[in-house]
Amino acid sequence: MSKLESLEHIVSFAKRRGFIFQSSEIYGGLSSCYDYGPLGVELKNNVKKAWWKAMVQDRNDVVGLDASILMHPKVWEASGHLEGFTDPLVDCKECKKRWRADHLLEAKGIKPTFEPGDWGNHKVRCPECEGELTEVRKFNLMFKTQMGALEDEADEVYLRPETCQGIYTNFLNVQNTMRKKLPFGIAQIGKAFRNEITPGHFTFRTREFEQMEQQYFSHPDDKKKIFDMWQEARMKWYLDLGIKKENLQFREHDPDELAHYASRALDIEYNYPGMGFSELAGIHDRGDWDLTRHSEFSGEKLEYFDQQENKKYIPHIIETSDGADRATLAFLVDAYDEVETRSGEEGGKHEKEVVLRLHKSLAPIKVAILPLSKKEPLQKLSDEIQTELRQNLMTMYDETGSIGKRYRRQDEIGTPYCVTVDFDSLEDKAVTVRDRDTMEQERIKIGELDRWFKEKFNF
Ligand code: ATP
Repeated sequence: MSKLESLEHIVSFAKRRGFIFQSSEIYGGLSSCYDYGPLGVELKNNVKKAWWKAMVQDRNDVVGLDASILMHPKVWEASGHLEGFTDPLVDCKECKKRWRADHLLEAKGIKPTFEPGDWGNHKVRCPECEGELTEVRKFNLMFKTQMGALEDEADEVYLRPETCQGIYTNFLNVQNTMRKKLPFGIAQIGKAFRNEITPGHFTFRTREFEQMEQQYFSHPDDKKKIFDMWQEARMKWYLDLGIKKENLQFREHDPDELAHYASRALDIEYNYPGMGFSELAGIHDRGDWDLTRHSEFSGEKLEYFDQQENKKYIPHIIETSDGADRATLAFLVDAYDEVETRSGEEGGKHEKEVVLRLHKSLAPIKVAILPLSKKEPLQKLSDEIQTELRQNLMTMYDETGSIGKRYRRQDEIGTPYCVTVDFDSLEDKAVTVRDRDTMEQERIKIGELDRWFKEKFNF
């Protein structure tokens, strides 16, 4: 478990330290929408960069894509979203609170079925006020908007509820232009939108979020092997980036839980504070559902010509789907640590200090430059050092407060290294580098700094 007992702690920490703010806060906020602050955007970008590196840069069998959010309305007919991407919704007639009917049934240990008449027999009442509930209505989670100037039905489009459809519609473009042979994958990072009925839990469930998805196309006989490969690779990615093993687990979906397109689904779950193990990412066997449907609806044959077998067929797809926001939240929560005061400047008082033990590659700021005095000679030297380091690394300059306070501030935001420039630096042309985790201090020649950090950060 993380050192945090509830998400509330991380909500206030994330705000206080410039990671995540409520959207439109000065207007009272917009429910379940969040803005990433100066440190949050660095962290989330680093998460996305690490994903792209592992999924695209480090492999020969996966290529990237950036498809548009707005797509032809037929896409959502073919994908089944127009008809099937719904949640069962009930309202309380007394207190007007809105509920997910399936969640209410699950809480009572009843398998959710919503055949006409079923609902009334279940005799479920409002969990808040015991009031009577309405009949179940299907609520489509897609956001609808208008394209063009005329509010004509023909111009109705949707904000994509998942990024992968842009990958399917570009299957032939990518395969032909990149001369890809099966098996190969297409990866994409981008925004998705769902009009969730019951959003909440901070950035875990929002109505606008970002997905990091990859679709791997193969011969149907290779599916099992490929599923196993991705299952291992995706879990390893989280572990390599420092998430504690005991906070991650797999969860296989029961057959009756599966989405309309999937024949197998496995979640990677993270133990979010106050929530327990909840979905962080998914690996799905989508079979040939998507390409078959898009072939039918578009009239364009989304097939692959297998030269070895000398025949055409529709490839099968194994999808990996990670939420960039859920991943960022998991990294933030997992890295959160509290220790007794470490700066030695607090006169022996036992105070708690936050240390964000983020993996170096995810830390928003890699190196802080801290001159011991604000006066010219040290400022000038610090400025020269920063100019050199910032060519490769995200740096921060801080000259205010005692050095102990400044270390503390950097520990709180997860900065792996602090460079202290002191008066001796003017003479010995060296600085003190402090390590966030070991707190060890090393004297390093200024001329060697770039090479020293190159080794630490692998750039
Ligand atoms: P859940 O069961 O939690 O609603 P899901 O099964 O609908 O999630 P998928 O459709 O498999 O989720 O989406 C893939 C990934 O996208 C999820 O694993 C998650 O990381 C992310 N995701 C989905 N919905 C949201 C959301 N509303 N807010 C933030 N991230 C989301």
